[in-house]
Amino acid sequence: MTEPKRVAILGSTGSIGTQTLEVIRQHFSDFQVEVLTAQNNADLLIEQALEFIPNAVVIGNEALYQKVKEALIPKDIKVFAGQKAIAQVVEMETIDVVLTALVGYSGLIPTIHAIKAGKQIALANKETLVVAGEIITALAKEYGVNIFPVDSEHSAIFQCLIGEFHNPIEKIILTASGGPFRGKDREFLKSVTKAQALKHPNWEMGAKITIDSASLMNKGLEVIEAKWLFGLKTEQIEVVVHPQSIIHSLVQFEDGSLKAQLGLPDMRIPIQFALSFPDRLKNDFERFDFLNYPNLTFEQPDKKTFRNLQLAFDALAMGGNAPCILNASNEIAVAAFLREEVGFLEMSDLIAETLAKAEFIAHPSLEDYIGTDLRAREITQELIQKNK
Ligand code: MG
Repeated sequence: MTEPKRVAILGSTGSIGTQTLEVIRQHFSDFQVEVLTAQNNADLLIEQALEFIPNAVVIGNEALYQKVKEALIPKDIKVFAGQKAIAQVVEMETIDVVLTALVGYSGLIPTIHAIKAGKQIALANKETLVVAGEIITALAKEYGVNIFPVDSEHSAIFQCLIGEFHNPIEKIILTASGGPFRGKDREFLKSVTKAQALKHPNWEMGAKITIDSASLMNKGLEVIEAKWLFGLKTEQIEVVVHPQSIIHSLVQFEDGSLKAQLGLPDMRIPIQFALSFPDRLKNDFERFDFLNYPNLTFEQPDKKTFRNLQLAFDALAMGGNAPCILNASNEIAVAAFLREEVGFLEMSDLIAETLAKAEFIAHPSLEDYIGTDLRAREITQELIQKNK
């Protein structure tokens, strides 16, 4: 029997983090939890650490350090605090794979540290590739590190490519559920509430990605993520709305043949595969039954109503730091929408204005990306204040 893979989970108390622990709970002989990190949810972090007994935990919010430390020191679990500690802990020698489930831009620096330490990456944090895909993919190559996608669409494409890595891709088709507002017009979207936007029809996810799904920004970010993961040109990436979320994405090869990966919308499957590759491990998750889904349907995405998807394609076409501007502005816009300070459609206006205002850099360095992220956040924030 092979040794269990030692896993660090960045963001263990979020939706992806808790589902990763569910996967590990079913496969204790395959995986061992080495590190857990959380930003604010100290209670759940402590509970998880007492169950999985990792080597170390990190609480991002330093004010919660004492609480976590007092709970875990008797179990001989190392406790650290702060953002720097999250970036450092991934370098620990006893880690084989780092699953990055942090929210948004915050995943970037820890992922860079993990790659430089030679750790395999299970990437749930798509924003890392959106912000700095060129740097991340170049680093992964340099350090001989694999990036296994956790995002269900990208996992689907990766699964379709197994055995085909030498065959050129003609195009990929990313499927989108369309979110809770599929088929609605701009008049309707003008007045939708936070509660309506947080009700996703198929997937249970964190707040940020759920709003992104409702606005189709999530699909836009996934288009950019796919470009970097699979080395594609923008013209090779298509989006089709598939409301049942059963076909998770498709690859079309140069002979016209299409391969797809199907299953119930259950994030535990792509999480498990990102950790277990190249093996498939047995589990007791619910199985798909065609008879429950007599109709699998497909539609064109409405990029005029859901402008965010168009903005993401535009940013990708611009290249340079434009996707980084798009992402930073979106994070601020989503946070403002969740505070009920801006309306649903205004999020796209803010992002478009920020893209027009922020300085464009064609060949950004890591420092440029960090500066761009800060500046784009400021611009969007100023626009929100001005419109109040
Ligand atoms: Mg996805």
